[in-house]
Amino acid sequence: MNGKTHLMGGLAACAVVETVVDGSDLSPLFYLSGMVGAFLPDICHVHSTIGRRLPLLSRIVSFLFGHRTFTHSILFLAVVYGLLHVFLPDARNVQLGLFAGMISHIILDMATVRGVKLFFPFSLRVRLPLFIRTGGKFEGIVQFALVIWLVIWSYQFVQTWM
Ligand SMILES: [Zn+2]
Repeated sequence: MNGKTHLMGGLAACAVVETVVDGSDLSPLFYLSGMVGAFLPDICHVHSTIGRRLPLLSRIVSFLFGHRTFTHSILFLAVVYGLLHVFLPDARNVQLGLFAGMISHIILDMATVRGVKLFFPFSLRVRLPLFIRTGGKFEGIVQFALVIWLVIWSYQFVQTWM
């Protein structure tokens, strides 16, 4: 999926988390972290949104692992969890946001022809039964569905404040 789809997917995942988790203390930092998390797995791709911003790190990760392998796996989620546990143990908003974003990214990429190596270092590629081609016309439909979801969620969110 492209950057726009991942961004909307990350925000939609944050909206879901906010309704499931007690959202009273979820701040804008939560949504910002969700957006970062939505881009983070594509650090393995030098031309991705995050890869263009962190070119050196992106080249190193791409060289070591290739595209859609380690950074799109359960192992990567575990490594990030460990790093957050050590360096930001009390930042609940950052932790929840990053994970919502990263998981949405991996699920969206699982809905593409190529799938992801979810169980890296094992080479098995995981793909959802319903999948599309990245950048194809159906990706626009996915984006549209995510926007509709976000509009409905925003409307419900605003109503709770009135
Ligand atoms: Zn990806």
